[in-house]
Amino acid sequence: MLGQMMNMPLMISSLIRHADNYHGDTEIVSRLPEGGIHRYTYHDAHRRSRQLANALNALGIKRGARIGTLAWNTHRHFEIYFGVSGIGAVCHTINPRLFPEQIAYIVNHAEDEYIFFDITFAALVEALAPQCPRVKGWVALCGRSHLPKTDKIPNLLAYDELVDAHSDAYEWPEFDENTASSLCYTSGTTGNPKGVLYSHRSTLLHAFASALPDGLNLSARDSVLPVVPMFHVNAWGLPYAVALTGAKFVMPGAGLDGASLCELFEQEKVTVSAGVPTIWLGLLQHLQANKLRLSTVKSLIIGGSAAPPAMIRAFDEQYGITVLHAWGMTEMSPLGTVNTYKHKHLALPAAEKDKIRVKQGRPLYGVDMKIVDGDGKPLPHDGKAFGDLLVRGPWITSTYFKSTDSPLADDWFPTGDVATIDADGYMQITDRSKDVIKSGGEWISSIDIENLAIAHPAVMEAAVIGVAHPKWDERPLLLVIKKKDMQVTREEMLAFMRGKIAKWWMPDDVVFVDSLPHTATGKLLKTKLRDEYQGYQLPSA
Ligand code: AMP
Repeated sequence: MLGQMMNMPLMISSLIRHADNYHGDTEIVSRLPEGGIHRYTYHDAHRRSRQLANALNALGIKRGARIGTLAWNTHRHFEIYFGVSGIGAVCHTINPRLFPEQIAYIVNHAEDEYIFFDITFAALVEALAPQCPRVKGWVALCGRSHLPKTDKIPNLLAYDELVDAHSDAYEWPEFDENTASSLCYTSGTTGNPKGVLYSHRSTLLHAFASALPDGLNLSARDSVLPVVPMFHVNAWGLPYAVALTGAKFVMPGAGLDGASLCELFEQEKVTVSAGVPTIWLGLLQHLQANKLRLSTVKSLIIGGSAAPPAMIRAFDEQYGITVLHAWGMTEMSPLGTVNTYKHKHLALPAAEKDKIRVKQGRPLYGVDMKIVDGDGKPLPHDGKAFGDLLVRGPWITSTYFKSTDSPLADDWFPTGDVATIDADGYMQITDRSKDVIKSGGEWISSIDIENLAIAHPAVMEAAVIGVAHPKWDERPLLLVIKKKDMQVTREEMLAFMRGKIAKWWMPDDVVFVDSLPHTATGKLLKTKLRDEYQGYQLPSA
């Protein structure tokens, strides 16, 4: 017997319609790449998304067609999220920080029909256009007056003009909730980037779960500023989650430095923000150097790379801000776990609580996880055993765009992360499987050593890699960037770490560097470091 509830498909358009109907006057604020602050409401964003829907139809965009974006977080990008997916086309966000050849590969692989781009990327688009002959037109996200003056971009349109030329009379269509809605390529450290194709259903389920109190804890009383770009896994789903909850939405455009962010945080009374650890390192330094405080921020969602415990403590103790340590992947929409306490933890002494909060967190409802050994045998959830982390759930990919090979292992998605899971379900990443350091047949967690190194007051950033060793196979090498005007020697660094990690985990050497390589999404590029230090002579070797 079937239930008798209304059978309504979960549509992305229902989010913006809901936000308009019940939070119509709630503000959406953007710092514009062309300068100035733009301010309007969910009501306006819904109207412009419908105008865009009519414009896309007039351009001949059909269901399933891919529309690319090379854009910062702004109200226009927000309208594209809803306008493109709303008509049944696929919003393909592209990371402009990738190499132009990689972007051209992605555009051609996705077969993007139009690309919407911020004018700050005009030079990039000039270089891309000849390599992407199938793109029918390039739409600059500005009005006519700011249109880039160039004849090197064929079929160049101005976004505002395109939208304004169309009526807002548009009814969002309903179709199968499993229809593709957006596409994001993830670049591994080897091979070509791979596309992850989200659906309306997966996006809505992810938005529901992420808004929960033990998720990102979002409500109509929040003012949310995603520093994480809308080209990085849909800004972790925040554009959808704010429409679902009716939170005020603040977008920083291209202004991602500490000063610009602080200004917006204060001006727009931001309560929740989200980004990768590098962004927050910059913000912390700016706050400390200028003796500033953030008067309204209550939580910072930190993910994408491990949030160093020292940073979590600094925000909590010095600024009264809760860090929500979150873990996920492009393949997971992205949220998998968020770190919040359980009721039984509340009365624990601070030192015990500290041990919990440095972990990556507990799975949201909808995400199931397990760890396995090299033979695929499940390992105990005892917080000690570590193995390959596998996940399942309705917002986790089953395959890659246009690929015929399944990445799954017995219906589970292998994350490539190595982790422990404790009896309470808290997961802790110890490494990426390919970054793992193997010393004398035993695994050493590079992340644990990095977290410890970064707790030293003179350390700005740290990376630990395995370097070949004649006896132990590999031994850890610590690379450190010092904070400006701060001094620390190799011996002081090692003395600081001694006793805080197992003796055999201690780095065999410390090298001070001026910079460390990062991927286009801000993660340490360890493969590059491993190559660079391949022949490094450890003193112990
Ligand atoms: P991406 O698909 O680019 O978002 O990368 C996903 C990968 O980033 C994960 O598989 C992890 O290796 C890493 N990652 C994401 N969040 C965290 C976190 N909180 N701690 C450690 N690693 C993380």
